Amino acid sequence: MNTVSKGPEFVVSRAEGAWLWDENGDRYLDGTASLWYCNVGHGRAEIADAVHKQITTLDAYTVYGDFANGPALELSARLASHAPVADPRVILTCGGGESIETASKLARRYWAALGSPAKTHLISRTGGYHGLHGFGTSMGMDRFRAGFGPLIEQTSVVPHDSVEALEQEIQRVGPENVAAFFAEPVIGAGGVYAPEPDYFARVAELCRGYGVLFIVDSVICAFGRMGDWFGVERFGVSPDMIVFAKGVTSGYLPLGGVITSGEIADPFWNHPGNPFIHGTTYAGHPTCCAAALANLDILEREDLFTASLEVEAHLDVSLRTLSDHPLVREVRSGVGVMAAVELTEKALMEHGITTDEVFQEARARGVVLRAIPTSLLMSPPLIVSWQQIDHMTSTLRSALDAVA
Ligand code: PLP
Repeated sequence: MNTVSKGPEFVVSRAEGAWLWDENGDRYLDGTASLWYCNVGHGRAEIADAVHKQITTLDAYTVYGDFANGPALELSARLASHAPVADPRVILTCGGGESIETASKLARRYWAALGSPAKTHLISRTGGYHGLHGFGTSMGMDRFRAGFGPLIEQTSVVPHDSVEALEQEIQRVGPENVAAFFAEPVIGAGGVYAPEPDYFARVAELCRGYGVLFIVDSVICAFGRMGDWFGVERFGVSPDMIVFAKGVTSGYLPLGGVITSGEIADPFWNHPGNPFIHGTTYAGHPTCCAAALANLDILEREDLFTASLEVEAHLDVSLRTLSDHPLVREVRSGVGVMAAVELTEKALMEHGITTDEVFQEARARGVVLRAIPTSLLMSPPLIVSWQQIDHMTSTLRSALDAVA
């Protein structure tokens, strides 16, 4: 699915909490919260009720021009009140990739408005994933860029762990040409790589010094996955923009957005003659916003922020027991409710074992994981139990044994 189906589909029919059922009634543990997003777990009647109420009150209406709706205003105010961004303003979209487009265009437009139209270059990190729209594809991994012809050329990548490399790249391109630096708090789809504890504080200072906007892509890391609202609080930084999606509704309905500092918004917001011309039909969709508000109510009421820190710790302890497996090169976990188990080069190259085979073996044993070329990824719902985590670990061990 998604592009062109390869063959027989695995049809998911029902879900509740951290469990899924297929069309035959067989049960699986959702070890990935679908695609990193179902933070509060599946089947929450409270979100369904909020959606029903909203559709029967005001199903949808544009937020074009000066139009607005109650749920969009309430959600924007609520997100702004928690965002570690100076004088925050919220732009709502329909997902992550669309928000990356918005942030990229806003960064470029901001510098143009300030009289520096040459500042268009965007820097991202190796292994970074920023969705598959135009700017996101251009900033992304080689395997997602291939075959599309020329993309946005004013982009480049730097090693994910080096502040020095970022500085060298800004100098190489020329700070007068660089608009922004994009980074995920913890690299997700690229293989779960957490930064050194002081990395982001140093990056923020460097970007400020060179006049480069610092944009955090928290599409995966926000709304509890890192134990906080926006995935950067533990690093103590205040970026120029934060991009969010996924966990804002736990995926019950599609929604994303950009939180930008007032400094970046003001050249447009306060000057009607100088607009930021950008938007999409369903931005600020009231029913999606109602789902988000109900989802945030659950996160707060059940304090899934604190719970998630405990899940993070247990996931780390549990998965590290796999370090001794002969097929395992490295277990990356312990920062956020996300983890990667990387296979050895010998297993992948010499023995030709694929992560997809491991994924299939695990799913046949009742656990859904995610396979990327070298690793198996995990990002369960934040309501996952210790028992379910241990079940995921022991199933992955059996799957590894089966392909060995
Ligand atoms: N940014 C990050 C960090 C992501 O992980 C993703 C999706 O996985 C995106 C952006 C793109 O989001 P979407 O798939 O909603 O376009």
